[in-house]
Amino acid sequence: MDLESIWNGFLEKIKNQLSDISYETWFSETKLISLDNGVAKVLVPSHVHKKNLKEHYIDLIDEKFTECTGTNFQFEFYIEEELETEIIVNTDEIGVPSNNFETNLDSKYQFNNFVIGNSNKFAATSALAVAEQPGNMYNPLFIYGSSGLGKTHLMQAIGNFILSNDKKMKVLYIPCDKFVSDFVEICRKNATENNTEATKQFKNKYRDIDVLIIDDIHNLVGATSAQQEFFNTFNELYNNKKQIIISSDRSPEDIKKLEERLKTRFNWGLQVDIQPPEFELRMNIINKKIEMQELENKFPEEVKEYIASNCVGDIRKLEGAITRVYAYATIMNGSAITVDLAIEALKDFFVQTIVAKNKIDQVIQIVSENYNISPEDLKSKKKTNNIAIPRQIAMYICRIYLEENLTKIGIEFGGKNHTTVMHAVDKIKNEILKDEALNNEIQKLINKIH
Ligand code: ADP
Ligand code: MG
Repeated sequence: MDLESIWNGFLEKIKNQLSDISYETWFSETKLISLDNGVAKVLVPSHVHKKNLKEHYIDLIDEKFTECTGTNFQFEFYIEEELETEIIVNTDEIGVPSNNFETNLDSKYQFNNFVIGNSNKFAATSALAVAEQPGNMYNPLFIYGSSGLGKTHLMQAIGNFILSNDKKMKVLYIPCDKFVSDFVEICRKNATENNTEATKQFKNKYRDIDVLIIDDIHNLVGATSAQQEFFNTFNELYNNKKQIIISSDRSPEDIKKLEERLKTRFNWGLQVDIQPPEFELRMNIINKKIEMQELENKFPEEVKEYIASNCVGDIRKLEGAITRVYAYATIMNGSAITVDLAIEALKDFFVQTIVAKNKIDQVIQIVSENYNISPEDLKSKKKTNNIAIPRQIAMYICRIYLEENLTKIGIEFGGKNHTTVMHAVDKIKNEILKDEALNNEIQKLINKIH
């Protein structure tokens, strides 16, 4: 980093601490001119600045500059005339140890963009506890759950949080398959080239750290010697009270062919699972994602509900759906985003969820059979009574009995508006109060749903 960007980063921090007027007066015209031998030289506009910064602001300056650079510097202030000699810039002085250490962390994964709901609350809270007290809370922390539910996000957020608190911490994130392939490569080198130095380096890389984050540990299965190496690494880190964070697509008990002694160790700490997100969490995640892309105003509520209703088990897919709808709207026709457009944009994307369908579909089957009409007719726009009434009954059952969301029902019934569904439900609600035969008939239909 050059002097100017270091100083700008520092000024940003100072700005947050002071009133606009103080900042403008004392800091806006300052400039860092060198960092050398533990001394930071700063150019200021006048003697008054010099005196005031030295006498009144030096503690704040020390504190914030150390935050930026990880190093304590002695400050000297100069005005232009005082600078006679050439200035030697030595940026090696700036100690940000974590920069030299390859963490593999991606800074996009943070706690503040991880949306919390019932299905991931326990995991998120435990993760934050570990992030605040690495090595002292739960060791190891074992996070498990299906693909796309946020395991990698959460464990990287722990790493980023730890680093933001203490830049000197050595945090290493590693996908398990990378650990395995690196290890295999080392063994090969050892065998063919008799390169024991490489083995030593490998061991050091994983053992001389403060926090090990190892992702998708189920990939350790089948790699016997790598399991042995991981076992040794684990023991060494654990005995030295270093934090270990592990993720997997299933619980340790369910990872077949994982050595018992490893399973035992995974039980020493805390195991937390992440469940598929509930509807409300899916909505909140969609809101967060579109807010991050500054698209809040472009996505109407019904479209968000459509996506949330159809994307049930995977947050990665939820993100994909948003991107796709937006891309479709901009590239294909530049038009406003509506439910119809979303249905069109996502029709192939949702294929899998549609095949694996759902109680609403079952209701459509049962009701159309009962009234001797085709499911297609039931989902059509036809308004004749022999079709419209069964359709209303089916919608009523979906709403009252299955407690499905109005938008979702509308979509499953051939892309109807949620208000249409609401009217149908209200209508049948009123009718059954007057018509006992209808009430009984609906009960019979409900009994057929498994
Ligand atoms: P996993 O590792 O469990 O397969 P990831 O952590 O890779 O899942 O998550 C998939 C995507 O979904 C990532 O882009 C991640 O940022 C996002 N994601 C997952 N859970 C959340 C959440 N609760 N809030 C915001 N984004 C999330
Ligand atoms: Mg992952």
